[in-house]
Formats: sequence, structure tokens, C-alpha cells
Amino acid sequence: MAKGGYWVPAQIEDEEIKYTYERHAFVLLKPASCYYCKYCGLVRLKNKFTKWCIRMGCNNEYHPTYMRMRNHFTGRRK
Ligand SMILES: [Zn+2]
Repeated sequence: MAKGGYWVPAQIEDEEIKYTYERHAFVLLKPASCYYCKYCGLVRLKNKFTKWCIRMGCNNEYHPTYMRMRNHFTGRRK
């Protein structure tokens, strides 16, 4: 076995992560009896912003309108 033989791709782009739709995979969290996504950890709440996050999928944070929608729904100004 060669040591440190892991191939690391040359183009790791931390700077700009492109938004792609990934469907949430909600599983029931028994103690709290609520649902959360096993990929991104989003808890399924009954509010408009969460609904938007559910619609946009796991990568909703990378969506171009994420900040605007968050500010819009949470009523925060920046
Ligand atoms: Zn998710």
C-alpha cells in the first residue's frame, strides 16, 4: 500500500459553489417527532422560509436568491 496515495482533484472550487437541486431526504426524528433531512439537516418546520428551503432542496444556501429570501421571510434587514 502506497502512503498518501490519495488522488486529489486539481480543481477544488471552494470560492463558488454552484447551486444544483438536490431533493431532501426527510426522516423522522423520533424524540422530537419532527422530520429532518438526513443530508443537510434541515428541520421541516411550518414556516414560509422553511417551505422555500424545502422547495429549493438541500443546496438552498447556494441559491442566488437565498440571502434575499432569508431576509424577506425572517424580516431581517442587512
Ligand atoms: Zn436536505
